Amino acid sequence: MKQKPFNVEDIRKSFPNLKVGVHEKPLVYLDNAATTFKPQSVINAVANHYKSGTSNVHRGVHTLSQQATAAFEDARNKVQGLLHARKPCEIIFTKGTTEGINLVASSYGQAFLRKGDEIVISEMEHHSNIVPWQMLCAAKGCILKIAPFNDQGELIREEFQKLLTPKTKLVSIVYISNSLGTINPIKEIIADAHKQGAIVLVDGAQTVGHLAVNVQDLDCDFLAFSGHKIFGPTGVGVLYGKESLLDQMPPYQGGGDMIASVTFEKTTYNVLPYKFEAGTPDVAGVIGMGAAVDYLQSIGLKNIERYEQELLNYGTKALNAISGLRLIGTAKNKTSILSFVLPDIHPHDVGTLLDEEGIAIRTGHHCTQPVMKHFNIPATSRASFAFYNTSAEIDQLAQAILKVKDVFR
Ligand code: PLP
Repeated sequence: MKQKPFNVEDIRKSFPNLKVGVHEKPLVYLDNAATTFKPQSVINAVANHYKSGTSNVHRGVHTLSQQATAAFEDARNKVQGLLHARKPCEIIFTKGTTEGINLVASSYGQAFLRKGDEIVISEMEHHSNIVPWQMLCAAKGCILKIAPFNDQGELIREEFQKLLTPKTKLVSIVYISNSLGTINPIKEIIADAHKQGAIVLVDGAQTVGHLAVNVQDLDCDFLAFSGHKIFGPTGVGVLYGKESLLDQMPPYQGGGDMIASVTFEKTTYNVLPYKFEAGTPDVAGVIGMGAAVDYLQSIGLKNIERYEQELLNYGTKALNAISGLRLIGTAKNKTSILSFVLPDIHPHDVGTLLDEEGIAIRTGHHCTQPVMKHFNIPATSRASFAFYNTSAEIDQLAQAILKVKDVFR
């Protein structure tokens, strides 16, 4: 796809939501790790499906159904291209990252994990990459082991390696932490796990849409992400899996579309990827996610990565200049997430006062309570950037934080 030169002002024009006002102030949206705004092309793709293309997929011989099916499968090809997967059938459409992880825990876990087998995750996981494994361990008698991180928020690789034994059957690790911004050395982690014969699931929720991802180069066995975090619609996402593994796994849910034939005596299952896509999918959402992939490719992941690193460096300097402010998550290899605490001011107060200035950030534990426990804090304030944010917006953030400090002085 042809890429235009990176121009943030041009890019901002594609996102209608950036133009809204909050408390009669122009909106500064710095909550992109929670969800991202949608470019007009994504909004059009979803609206056009409902305006003139509404139909179910894979079932109809009529024109609209055939067109919807073609657009739906085209989105799969686009995601395959984005992730550099070997085949389209390795792309399973889900509701999001959470469902992708649950699918693997349920299907792979139920079929292949046994009592006493070990699963390794890290201390910086989102709850959606903790709880499904706890549930699996409770059901099957497996053992969950936790790889720690240091006070910069970097995974301690030697400690992770020490946890890997011949009993380790599965490793599930976040690529980029949503509360710390840490970029984990995922390729090395995957190689470590493979050496012990474990398979690896990568939580790519904060990665796809920010970094170029090549699943073949990483050699991950599974990778999950959400459409709404890559400038696409909510309610859709992707689980990438190696064909050889997906082929061996039993279905996750039963219903329409995932079968080859059904009788009361015996049901046979459909081929990949449909075996894992029971029921009517979010057709418009998937088509919208395909448009989001097109949009990302038109800007270029390398350009996005470069620009977001500049924003991160600028933001880190700006926030470090505020006396008393402490950044939570100072890894050497980081992405555009700045979590911070201010002495004696609760993050929820920070968030509320920033909102009055038109600035949207996230406050709380960010679904990573073990990260909060590590730093012995209840919550952080988190500013998270996308490629449509600007250094001027970071200046506004810094000014507003100074104002918050004044209010509490
Ligand atoms: N993993 C990480 C690192 C996340 O940041 C999130 C959402 O914030 C998730 C998983 C869950 O994503 P979703 O709620 O879209 O399924």
